[in-house]
Amino acid sequence: MTSLAVRAQTLLREIFGYTEFRGQQAEIITHIANGNSCLVLMPTGGGKSLCYQLPALLRDGVAIVISPLIALMENQVSVLHERGVRATYLNSTQTSKAAAVIEQDMLAGNYDLVYVAPERLLTNRFHALLQRIPIALFAIDEAHCVSQWGHDFRPEYGRLSMLPEKFPGVPRIALTASADARTRTDILRCLELGQARAFISSFDRPNLCYRITARSNSRRQLLNFIRNQHPGEAGIVYCQSRKKTEETAAWLNANHIPALAYHAGMETPVRTQHQKKFLRENGIVMIATSAFGLGIDKPDIRFVAHLDLPRSIESYYQETGRAGRDGLPADAWMVYGPSDIIRLRYQAESNAGQISIPVQQAATARLDALLALCETTACRRTRLLDYFGEPSDSSSELACGNCDACLTTTPVQDVTLAAQKALSCVYRTGQNFGMEYLIDVLTGKQTNRIRQWGHDRVSTFGIGHELSIEGWRIVFRHLLALGYFTAGGERFTLQLAPAARGILRGETRIKLRLSPYHHSASHQQAPI
Ligand code: ADP
Ligand code: ZN
Repeated sequence: MTSLAVRAQTLLREIFGYTEFRGQQAEIITHIANGNSCLVLMPTGGGKSLCYQLPALLRDGVAIVISPLIALMENQVSVLHERGVRATYLNSTQTSKAAAVIEQDMLAGNYDLVYVAPERLLTNRFHALLQRIPIALFAIDEAHCVSQWGHDFRPEYGRLSMLPEKFPGVPRIALTASADARTRTDILRCLELGQARAFISSFDRPNLCYRITARSNSRRQLLNFIRNQHPGEAGIVYCQSRKKTEETAAWLNANHIPALAYHAGMETPVRTQHQKKFLRENGIVMIATSAFGLGIDKPDIRFVAHLDLPRSIESYYQETGRAGRDGLPADAWMVYGPSDIIRLRYQAESNAGQISIPVQQAATARLDALLALCETTACRRTRLLDYFGEPSDSSSELACGNCDACLTTTPVQDVTLAAQKALSCVYRTGQNFGMEYLIDVLTGKQTNRIRQWGHDRVSTFGIGHELSIEGWRIVFRHLLALGYFTAGGERFTLQLAPAARGILRGETRIKLRLSPYHHSASHQQAPI
C-alpha cells in the first residue's frame, strides 16, 4: 500500500469508525487526494460523502462543499463534529455577524470542511476570501442540478463553470445519485470535467423487489400488503397530497398499524417528533409526501410503498432506494391508475407556457419513461437500469428474478381487438368524453346522458361485453400511458393520438401484462 492509502485507511478507521471502504470509495479518495478531478455517480446511500470528506482531511487547506440542500448542511456538520472533524457551514439562515466570524476562522485556517450554498459561493465577497486561503478541493454535491434537462435544475449551479478558471489546480469532485446520459454530459460540460475520470457505480439494488400494480382500492391494497408481507416492520408510504398522508395514517392506525404522517405543511415540532419516532422506534409506518426522506439514514426500512406515482423515475428510484439499506430483502411496492397519468400529464402541460419547447419535450420524455416502467411487460429492474444508462448483463429480458415481472408468470395478453374498440368508441363519440363515459358506451349502459347524446345509436354502443368495467379501465390506462390517447381540457376528455391509426389498421398489436379479461371486477371507482 502506498503511504497515502495507509493514511486513508487509518483515517477511515479512527475518524469515521469504519473498517473498510465500500465500492469504489478507496479509488475515488486516492484519485482526489492526488489532486485530480472526477465525477462520482453513486446511488443514494452508496457513501458519497466520504469520497470528499476523507480527501478533505488528507489534503492541505479547506474543502469547500457546495450543496443546494441547506436543511442537510447542519446535520452533516454535526455528524462531522461528533467525529472531531473541524467543519462548518455558511448559508442564508445565518446572520451576517455569525457568517463574518466563520469567515475569520476560515482565514485563520481553522476548518477542514466548509459547506456552502451555491449562491453564497458566487458572491464577490466570498470569492475574495477563497482567493486568500489554501483550498483542498471543491465538492459539488447534487451535481445534476447544473442540468436544465434534469428535474432539479438550479440556475446558480450553471455558474460553477467559473471554478476551474478562478481556482486552477484545485481538484473538483462532482457527485450525484441521479443522472441519465444527457444530464451526465451536461455535468461534464458545465463543470469542465470532460478530461476527468468518471467513477460510475452500479445503480442496481439487488435486495429490492420491485412490484407495480394497478390501483383498485389503494388503502385496502396497502393494508393487505403490510399485513401479509410486513407486519410489525418499518416502512414509508409516499402520497402526493398532504391531506392524503394524514387520512391514510389515521386509517392505518384505526386498522392497528402504527402510522405517522409527515409533510411540509405540518408544524415543525410535530414533524420533527414524527421523524424521531420513526427513526428510533421499531415497526412504524411513515405516511409522507416527497418532503420526507432526504438524509434519512435508517438501515432497516423494509418497504417503501407508493400510493401515487412519483413525478419521475429519479424520484421513484431515490424514494424506493430508502428501503433495505442494510442489504436484507425489502420491497418497493406501488399502485397506480389512470388518475396518476392524467395528473402528471396535466402538470407537464401546465408548465408548457413557461419553459422552452426542448425542456418541455424532455419533461414529457421523462414522464413517458416513468409510465413505460409501470406498463412494461418485461423486467422492472432491467428498465430502471436501462434508464440510468446501465447495461444489464443479462441477455434475457426476464432475468432479475426479484421483480413482479420475473417472479410471476402472468401470461402476456394480446388485447388489440379491445384496443381497437376503445379507440373507435372515442372516435365515434366525437373525441369529447372521459374514460368512464366511454366505458359506459362500450358496455352498453342505458344512462340518460348517453341517450341525450344519442350514443346508444353509435356502432360502438354495447360492443364491449367481453370485458368488465375494470378490464376496460386497464385497456384505457395502457392506451393512455403508451400515448395512443391524449387527455385534454378540464374534464380530461380523450382524443386519438396519431399513433392510434396503427392499431386501428391492425398494424400495431397491443399486449398487456395484466389480463383485463379475468380481472376480478373491483367496484371501486378509480378516482378520475
Ligand atoms: P450518499 O451521500 O451516497 O447517499 P452517505 O454518504 O450519506 O451516502 O452514506 C450512506 C451511509 O453509509 C451513511 O450511514 C454512512 O455513514 C455509511 N457509510 C459510508 N461509507 C461507509 C463505509 N466505508 N463503511 C460503512 N459505512 C459507510
Ligand atoms: Zn425482474
